Amino acid sequence: MITEFELTAEHQAQREAVREFVESTVEPVVDEHETAGEFPEALVRQLGDEGYSGVPYPEEYGGAGLDYRSFAITNEELSRGWKLLAGAVNVIASLVGYPIYTEGDEWQREQWLQKACTGEWIVSLGMTEPDAGSDAASISTTAERDGDDLLINGHKVWMTNGHVADFMLLVTKTEDGLTLVGVPEPRERDGVEYVRNIPCMEGDAAIESEVKFHDVRVPAENVVGTSGKGLRYVLEGLDIGRIGTAAQGVGVAQASLDASKEFADEREQFGQPIREFQGVGFKLADMAMDVEASRLLTLSAADQRDRGERVTQEAAMAKAYATDAAMEIATEAVQIHGSRGYSTDYPVERHMRVAKGMQIYEGTNEINRLVVSQRLYE
Ligand SMILES: Cc1cc2nc3c(=O)[nH]c(=O)nc-3n(C[C@H](O)[C@H](O)[C@H](O)COP(=O)(O)OP(=O)(O)OC[C@H]3O[C@@H](n4cnc5c(N)ncnc54)[C@H](O)[C@@H]3O)c2cc1C
Repeated sequence: MITEFELTAEHQAQREAVREFVESTVEPVVDEHETAGEFPEALVRQLGDEGYSGVPYPEEYGGAGLDYRSFAITNEELSRGWKLLAGAVNVIASLVGYPIYTEGDEWQREQWLQKACTGEWIVSLGMTEPDAGSDAASISTTAERDGDDLLINGHKVWMTNGHVADFMLLVTKTEDGLTLVGVPEPRERDGVEYVRNIPCMEGDAAIESEVKFHDVRVPAENVVGTSGKGLRYVLEGLDIGRIGTAAQGVGVAQASLDASKEFADEREQFGQPIREFQGVGFKLADMAMDVEASRLLTLSAADQRDRGERVTQEAAMAKAYATDAAMEIATEAVQIHGSRGYSTDYPVERHMRVAKGMQIYEGTNEINRLVVSQRLYE
């Protein structure tokens, strides 16, 4: 467990660049998209042009060639503007992109990873099923050999960005265990049934797809890494994904604090700004402390990963802590805003809704606590 870390001028420059992008390009259009329930496809692809989609990958695969602290900072700043964008980036660095980068063959890296990092492709992960959530090993989607091909049959839910995805990475069951299979251009393929966009708290701009696969045919070489080793690849990818999700929590928490500070300064009751009431000031102080603690845990886990160490424990701690803190902070932000906080005129109700999702994906926070508690005895 490393609890100290270093941030360089390069990290600070990355923070400033992403913040500037968010302020100039993202913030002006969030409300418009949220109100219209419109997925920001052009903006998600633009993240690739800006170099934010593949932050930790080498430039030869379309990445930015930066480290995991830069990745966390990028996710935090994107999330501070609009969490939905950070979600699209996170899956590339973790559950979809990481197995391709570490276990895939050169062709998969040059084609699939490169297209994901540059924004040419929007990618989606298909792991969760109606009967297999936290217990991911119990999935029943199959990939059966048929000559030189695989035939995929099954039912996936909660595939973020599934309906617009140009590439899906599916966790499937094969005779030898769990196997990751790439499905490029799923919309062009026979047998891919888009059942529905699951209505959810994040709002209609978000895409959470339910998809069925009926004899979907892909070449057998679309297996990523070794057949049967998929569970290990997923767990390794989750270590990265949890750092990214923790950073999303920090971003949403910081945005909630920023909005609350401004509101508490402007809003007057009983003849004074409400921040001067100790009951409000203490809330702001608690929020600020938890934002800092969450950021430190997140960057510490990222730093340890940058040193080449396994971060299963640290990433799970950061994810559970930072997303629980984000939920608490966003809820207090709504409270500080009073009735206005409950309306969509102000951003804090959105922060509260997305924070709830973060406590559930990349392993629920109960599962992350399980990971932490098990490792206390190792
Ligand atoms: C916004 C959002 C985006 C998502 N994106 C994706 C995606 O892109 N791809 C994808 O494949 N999936 C995605 N998911 C699904 C997500 O990974 C699952 O929801 C999550 O793994 C939990 O599974 P479940 O919902 O089936 O809950 P369950 O596993 O059924 O859990 C229900 C409750 O039981 C608790 N529980 C279960 N097992 C234990 C245990 N051993 N100890 C203690 N408590 C336990 C859980 O913590 C939870 O509170 C997304 C989910 C959300 C909300």
